[in-house]
Amino acid sequence: MSAASELKPLVKSLNSASSEEETLKILNTLKDFAKITEAVLRESKAGLAVGKLRSNASKPVSELAKEIVRKWKHEVEREKAAGGGSKGAAKPPGASAPAKKAVSSSAAATPSTPVTPSGSGGTKFNDTRSAKSDGIKVEYTGDKTRDKCAELIYDALVFDSGAPSELILNRAKDVEKTVLNDHGGTTAAYKAKIRSLFVNLKDKNNPGLRESVISGDLPVSRFCKMSSQDMASEERKRADELIAQQNLFNTLGAGEQEAETDAFQCGRCKQRKCRYRQAQTRSADEPMTTFVTCTVCNNRWKFS
Ligand SMILES: [Zn+2]
Repeated sequence: MSAASELKPLVKSLNSASSEEETLKILNTLKDFAKITEAVLRESKAGLAVGKLRSNASKPVSELAKEIVRKWKHEVEREKAAGGGSKGAAKPPGASAPAKKAVSSSAAATPSTPVTPSGSGGTKFNDTRSAKSDGIKVEYTGDKTRDKCAELIYDALVFDSGAPSELILNRAKDVEKTVLNDHGGTTAAYKAKIRSLFVNLKDKNNPGLRESVISGDLPVSRFCKMSSQDMASEERKRADELIAQQNLFNTLGAGEQEAETDAFQCGRCKQRKCRYRQAQTRSADEPMTTFVTCTVCNNRWKFS
């Protein structure tokens, strides 16, 4: 019997528990459950069921639920740090991949992802996403060159992101359109610019650059005017900001419990079970930033 199928009946009774006493009893059983992995939590929906109870009106229930979620988070993180446990699918993001360290400009000519995403579809998290693995067909201009260029930008933005496909696709299209306008059509300069943006975005050392283009912190119009040097210095700036944002995320995540919504699709587990909240993180005349947390796999992203 798999760990997930052992958990499922518990989750079911937890969801239908009618008294505080009963809920606490089941939670305590769940707390002692040993074989917790990300996949088990997702498949059994235990993460979701217990996660919900963190905002339960009963204090003992909400406290215990919080404790369990914390414990599970640790276990999942440990699982990841250990190299994905038995599944071997999840590597910690940003882990070194010596085989494909440098992205050369020739990579732009052959946009196929160097690391094969797991073939079994939807159920595992790929740490390397692409238009292909996301099931995205970039066809919106009627022009093969332009579609291909937008797909390149999509691949560069998405590969280690947890943001939804929809959001990333919109950014990729915006980038392509902006470069097109800036260079008067699909000229040689257009292609060179797309290639340069691709190489810089996809650079493993530039996570802050990708993140800020996806979130909208760095407007596409400005990004498309940047030289490689600009992008490198932008990255240094963003790296510091990212740490501050991550702290903000953690603060927001802890106390605030928004109602679950299906308005957002998680880019990682593809489910539509997210909580979100909005905050003014920059100056008052700029748009609000929306922070989204997936209640299934705890993936987080933000956009404005
Ligand atoms: Zn998710």
